Amino acid sequence: NMGKISLDQLDSLAVKSFPLCMRQLHKALREHHHLRHGGRMQYGLFLKGIGLTLEQALQFWKLEFIKGKVDTDKFDKGYAYNIRHSYGKEGKRTDYTPFSCMKIILTNPPSQGDYHGCPFRHSDPELLKQRLQSSKISQTGINQILDYIKGTHYQLACQKFFDLTHNVEDGMFSLNHPNQYFFESQKLLN
Ligand code: SF4
Repeated sequence: NMGKISLDQLDSLAVKSFPLCMRQLHKALREHHHLRHGGRMQYGLFLKGIGLTLEQALQFWKLEFIKGKVDTDKFDKGYAYNIRHSYGKEGKRTDYTPFSCMKIILTNPPSQGDYHGCPFRHSDPELLKQRLQSSKISQTGINQILDYIKGTHYQLACQKFFDLTHNVEDGMFSLNHPNQYFFESQKLLN
């Protein structure tokens, strides 16, 4: 664990150190003040994995949701339980672990209105290309990423994205988890 994270750091951490899957969820949450169940699970457990406490998680989701269509009462009744549950404080008290890349890539694909999943696997290739082009990656780099995707090597595509956005050489680590992506990024940046 890299030490305490404060909620007001999340916007800048998302840009600097979150993998694309979690950036997408963070951005959608900020824009829509809501995420559907699949997104809340994938993103909520990731945030738990980077060190958000239960109290911070409750505050984070609540502050965002009440900017949208959910009021405090509805949040407390409908959503707080699930957050406590994912921290092992309700029901069977299972302490849920953040999803791995394989789980995100292979299970529960997003449908219309969902923002979870792996962008390298689930995004429309043309949209993904536009996103990559707006992130200051060279055309050669973008082509390498798109080649990996064509070959269905989604994690290698993500790892290449990491290397290119952190200015490091190939093969720094073998990516298998979004939280690992985050910690490797923080190690390089701090
Ligand atoms: Fe997220 Fe893993 Fe996909 Fe990267 S490869 S975007 S970390 S699910």
